Amino acid sequence: MSLTGQQMIGTERTDSQGRVFYAVNPATGERLSPAFCEGTEGDVDRAAQLAERDFDAFRATDLERRGAFLEAVADELIALGDQLLNRAAEETGLPKARLEGERGRTVNQLRLFAQLVREGSWLGARIDRGNPGRTPLPKPDVRMLHLPLGPVAVFGASNFPLAFSVAGGDTASALAAGCPVVVKGHPAHPGTSELAGRAIVAAIRTCGMPAGSFSLVQGSGHEVGIAMARHPLIKAVAFTGSLAGGRALFDQAATRPEPIPVFAEMGSINPVFLLPGALRERGGEIATGFVEALTLGVGQFCTNPGVVFAIRSVEFESFASLVEAELAAKPAGIMLHAGIRQNFHEGATRLAAVRGVAQNGETGPPGRGGCAAAALLLRTDCPTFLANPTLETEVFGPASLIVECDSYDDMLAAARHLKGQLTATIHGAGDDSATIPALARVLERKAGRLIFNGFPTGVEVCHAMTHGGPYPATTDSRFSSVGTAAINRFLRPVSYQNFPVELLPETLRDGSPLQAWRLIDGVLCRGELPRRAPV
Ligand code: NAP
Repeated sequence: MSLTGQQMIGTERTDSQGRVFYAVNPATGERLSPAFCEGTEGDVDRAAQLAERDFDAFRATDLERRGAFLEAVADELIALGDQLLNRAAEETGLPKARLEGERGRTVNQLRLFAQLVREGSWLGARIDRGNPGRTPLPKPDVRMLHLPLGPVAVFGASNFPLAFSVAGGDTASALAAGCPVVVKGHPAHPGTSELAGRAIVAAIRTCGMPAGSFSLVQGSGHEVGIAMARHPLIKAVAFTGSLAGGRALFDQAATRPEPIPVFAEMGSINPVFLLPGALRERGGEIATGFVEALTLGVGQFCTNPGVVFAIRSVEFESFASLVEAELAAKPAGIMLHAGIRQNFHEGATRLAAVRGVAQNGETGPPGRGGCAAAALLLRTDCPTFLANPTLETEVFGPASLIVECDSYDDMLAAARHLKGQLTATIHGAGDDSATIPALARVLERKAGRLIFNGFPTGVEVCHAMTHGGPYPATTDSRFSSVGTAAINRFLRPVSYQNFPVELLPETLRDGSPLQAWRLIDGVLCRGELPRRAPV
């Protein structure tokens, strides 16, 4: 199957006239064929019009069919075989084994959402039966259900070309909710995006889903993304990427005549707190785990540990030396694209330039293709960290700052000072148990996920996962962009008061065949409505 470089508006492929762009192999600097058409505002408009046209038909699909559709997308991705993995490897420089794992995560994610859709609890059905005989006023019959928001704009992330791109978690959760999706593919991997887009279109055809349920618009400039966030028919935005990009889209969406929610995941520095007992008991093991977590995927994860706090001690010094030695032995890796490599170099240089920060190692020469980067360790003390907001900015890539504290109180002060984070990690053992609770209480106000005696880099896709956190980690700390809870971003509650049964959504009817949990008169139950206590 050869790539065409066309836009995918519904099930149609179209050429926008005029400008084109190319993918670049970050390992070699080589330009990859074919040319991809630059999307236009007109493409975005047609995609949004189609999405709106088919929204009612798509949201009306029964849950069994919608689940089967998500599974069909997973099957179509697998059917692309090595073509998908090879193209993704060429466009991102990521090893094929990593991409194979990421494809597994992507299809499992789709299958997990298929199960969730069928199960139905996400609809959040609530029934408060009426009581016409209540005095002094009759009690109305009120029933609540969550409905999909409408067409959603999804921005593919550069660092997860499969799991957080065209057929990734944002798309899967929006489709699961019943929202048509218009994706802007990330310009660094347009061929991978086209292949994933074709998998979705193939599943739309085999499952008889409405054509406007999905469109893919590709482009290498801001115009397409801004047009998506501002289009009056788009009702929400899901984004993973830089703080600058996420914030720009959030501001665009907020100044529309009708503002819409933007769920932007913009990364964080993921603080790790090493308590003295843990360093004494297993300092070497923590050093090795930390280096692995920092350098995995050339550090290109929004959850990689960008700052480590520890109290000055002999054990801390040996930890720092071990980390330094292990990092120095790591070969340079190829970053995803020249822009990320450039940002990494500039960010690391900015941090190292702060007075009171010492640097171990170099980001490395750019190398062939311009995208190679070596891991970097910086070190400072707590007063310097507290006095320099620059040190709290994310440097996306394999760089971390070790902050030496004088005391536990110093460490607590640093924790209180932190901005919003995706994750925060505590390593503790033995005597640390006395100090851990206060630290945990501070960190739970700062981060979406707390980790104990582990590392934050891997994010499990499951029901209880929160991948989110207070600003600037995300633009809305109430939601997760990973795991089944991600569906809640695209739903809104509607209540039906004294509605005739035949006009109620099936899930809210007394004898609904759906076996979802429902809150009935304040009690969670499944199946038939419980008998009412006599009034
Ligand atoms: P990015 O620059 O934020 O771009 C992500 C997407 O948003 C792209 O499609 C980009 O398209 C679009 N975009 C960016 N700024 C925009 C704006 N002002 N208006 C409209 N659209 C905009 O992210 P990236 O290219 O993946 O990497 C750049 C930096 O982002 C990295 O160095 C890193 O700091 C950060 N990053 C964070 C995460 C994370 O997990 N949070 C993941 C990857 C990268 P155009 O460029 O075509 O406009």
